[in-house]
Amino acid sequence: MTRQNTDIVIAGGGIAGLSAAAALGAAGFRVMLVSPDVPVTRGGDAAADLRSTAFLQPARALYERIGLWDRVAGQATPLEVLRIVDAHVTPEGGDPQVRDSREFHAGEIAETAGGPFGWNLLNWQVLGGLMDLLEGMDNVTLRFGTSVTGMVRRDAQAIVRLADGSSVTARLVIGADGRDSAVREAAGIGHDLTRYGQKSLAFVATHEVPHGNASTEIYVQGGPFTTVPLPDLEGKPASAIVWMNPGPETVRLAGLPEAEFNAAMRARACDWLGAMELASRRAMFPIIGLKAQALTAQRVALVAEAAHVLPPIGAQGLNTSLNDIVALVAALEGAPDPGAPEVLDRYAAARARDIGLRVQAIDLFNRVTRSGAPGLQALRLAGLRGLYGLAPLRRAVMRAGLAPVTGDPAQAVRRD
Ligand SMILES: Cc1cc2nc3c(=O)[nH]c(=O)nc-3n(C[C@H](O)[C@H](O)[C@H](O)COP(=O)(O)OP(=O)(O)OC[C@H]3O[C@@H](n4cnc5c(N)ncnc54)[C@H](O)[C@@H]3O)c2cc1C
Repeated sequence: MTRQNTDIVIAGGGIAGLSAAAALGAAGFRVMLVSPDVPVTRGGDAAADLRSTAFLQPARALYERIGLWDRVAGQATPLEVLRIVDAHVTPEGGDPQVRDSREFHAGEIAETAGGPFGWNLLNWQVLGGLMDLLEGMDNVTLRFGTSVTGMVRRDAQAIVRLADGSSVTARLVIGADGRDSAVREAAGIGHDLTRYGQKSLAFVATHEVPHGNASTEIYVQGGPFTTVPLPDLEGKPASAIVWMNPGPETVRLAGLPEAEFNAAMRARACDWLGAMELASRRAMFPIIGLKAQALTAQRVALVAEAAHVLPPIGAQGLNTSLNDIVALVAALEGAPDPGAPEVLDRYAAARARDIGLRVQAIDLFNRVTRSGAPGLQALRLAGLRGLYGLAPLRRAVMRAGLAPVTGDPAQAVRRD
């Protein structure tokens, strides 16, 4: 088979891989993206990704720059209010009861400049916008139906082997191939894995009470129940929901008949949204934490879930991934050789600390909030009250995720 040649090979056709391809294509590089499956861009398809992503402001800035935002903005719901609810199930059981709640408005912090915290989109909608955008880029080649199986790395280039027997020569290989990254493994980069024993259900539901463009996170031992606002569905208010629980409980909920599931959902939402109805299938995701032991190796850069996986709390996962892409593009800009050691060092320096902090913070948060231990439950409530009772601290928390990321390591760490 002939060997093709390009500047950059990207492994992975998820949102991160496609976003990286669009950003690097827009920066003028010749890019080849390799992924086993064609992205699913219709919500009705059985394989559609029903998760939603609350894109925070730096993600929007990236998407504006590469020409994606205009394609998807019409489907986005602004996130104007964050509501955090602490609830409790007594040892005797029964429905969760609210112990305390706090509301935060985007207008309270300067970084939003009068705008919302972020914009919520269903993942399949974002994939659709990215595919449309990439189809118009002559310097980006999409190779679906095959995958990266290995590579040989040399000083000046890498030879990437694909499952169809062909190979591609590139100066940089980007691993955007998810949590089980083949690129990470082929580059000999180890990883630290945390299994939480939790699983989440992601689905869409309609509800009686309008959401008022608010995202509500309801914490109970076991894991949070998070609603993120969507446009009305057939005239009814709708939200994307992520419901985390210990694994066996999630499996039980996934198998409940719909009417029973609807009742369980309403109780778990502490009646905040009134009567609720399932409006999609229920997709199940194991919850893990993962951190690659390095972000780069010779001729290789890792981004997104190949580099870090976070439990789905506080809209951090994909937003952190898009920050990787912003930093990688900044490190590559103007570089004659996109895989040169100094370029990779710039990227790693820009991202390592921020990723480490987020992985640690979300890990700690998940351990505290899922615990049923009375001491930790009291801590959760005290933390909620303390954190949000003090105005400067509260503003700092709300700024989380809003700080822009640049290629400059000094700028890459949050300003709060
Ligand atoms: C329930 C849930 C809710 C979430 N909600 C949010 C949220 O609100 N906000 C947020 O920011 N994040 C959120 N996240 C996280 C976010 O969904 C993920 O970070 C994101 O989907 C991962 O994207 P990715 O492109 O890195 O990986 P993936 O989507 O896993 O893509 C990996 C791609 O690589 C391909 N691939 C695999 N192996 C190979 C190979 N050998 N060669 C080539 N390609 C390969 C796969 O086929 C796939 O296309 C959530 C996560 C979960 C589980």
